[in-house]
Amino acid sequence: MSEIKTVYLDHAATTPPAAEVAGAMQPYLESKYGNPSALYAIGRESKQAIEKARRQVAALINASPDEVYFTSGGSESDNMALRGVLQAGGDGPRDIVTTRIEHHAVLETAEFLQSIGYGATFVEVDSTGLVDPADIKAAITPETALVSVMHANNEVGTIEPISQISRICREAGVHLHTDAVQTVGNIPVDVEEMGVDMLSMSAHKLYGPKGVGAIYIRRGTRVARFIHGGEQERGMRAGTENIGGIAGFGAAAELAAAEMEAKVPRIKALRDRLADGLLSAMADVVLNGNPDARLPNNVHIGIRYIEGEAICLQLDTVGVCASTGSACSSEALEPSHVLLALGVPTLEAHGSVRFSLGRGTTEEEVDYVIEQLPPIVKRLRAMSPLTK
Ligand SMILES: *Cc1c(COP(=O)(O)O)cnc(C)c1O
Repeated sequence: MSEIKTVYLDHAATTPPAAEVAGAMQPYLESKYGNPSALYAIGRESKQAIEKARRQVAALINASPDEVYFTSGGSESDNMALRGVLQAGGDGPRDIVTTRIEHHAVLETAEFLQSIGYGATFVEVDSTGLVDPADIKAAITPETALVSVMHANNEVGTIEPISQISRICREAGVHLHTDAVQTVGNIPVDVEEMGVDMLSMSAHKLYGPKGVGAIYIRRGTRVARFIHGGEQERGMRAGTENIGGIAGFGAAAELAAAEMEAKVPRIKALRDRLADGLLSAMADVVLNGNPDARLPNNVHIGIRYIEGEAICLQLDTVGVCASTGSACSSEALEPSHVLLALGVPTLEAHGSVRFSLGRGTTEEEVDYVIEQLPPIVKRLRAMSPLTK
């Protein structure tokens, strides 16, 4: 009679939409289908829905609504930031400074830009995933147009010292972009305090719908238009808007702002309970990332002698959703670029498992994982050729 429940601990990959989000989207999927560019009532209603969401998203990051542009998600926002600044630069500086641990949407855009004649420098991080602002300073040259450093890493959860980096960028007269997809909605994010010129967000990482995101662009920052065509998003991104998605994003942003103060300490306590519980229940297990500058919902562990993919598949059989940075994301059985950049030893990198908690996570679920994982690890280690 044992019924397997789902324990969803992969919120860094995506989050379950909040009830408020679905409710906010519903009218725009049904009766309120008007084109926001139209002059009649149902068109105007769509337009108002977009502008309401823009105010909600802006409020969450302490921006002005006219500095928020809706996109199709975090990946598009990252592409837009990097390409937009360089393409708007004309004969000016043509290089990007970024880091080894960025999301692929930043890394591959930087590599693409390199392939068409722009310059890119990839700064190293320490063994906990922290970027040293002095290394950013050292990498900036007169040719640097843009620095892009993520606010928090999506794999190991390390939070980067963005406001220190922004002071360096301002002194050097260089724009700063941050991929804040893992932080917006999950910890307080304030574009003024951080001092960034551009910031990427994604709705589905904060209990909103998939396929919608936004980019904050500080007033006065020159960014080339990203999609050519109509005048939507003040000419930056053509195409009839994803009104339902945008309305859902707005509702998610408002909910995140309202919940923030109570949510962060609660999730942090559960995170520590999970990390402590797992580390004390098993030998040869380490916590990856930075112990202090860390997302409140991230537990990333390295379990020696076994494969992260096997662990995740076994966890799935007991209803636990988690992810690995070792094999499943690549066919080459290579550890992820992030774990490689941290210099995580091969044994731990291969056995890496990321648990990312969320607003719905309970103590009971955390305790269930602490109970279920050790016997799985024991069984897999018994079969492992690597076990001592
Ligand atoms: C999820 C994620 C993205 C991509 O966002 P999408 O909306 O899925 O395109 C970009 N950067 C980081 C850090 C992420 O975690």
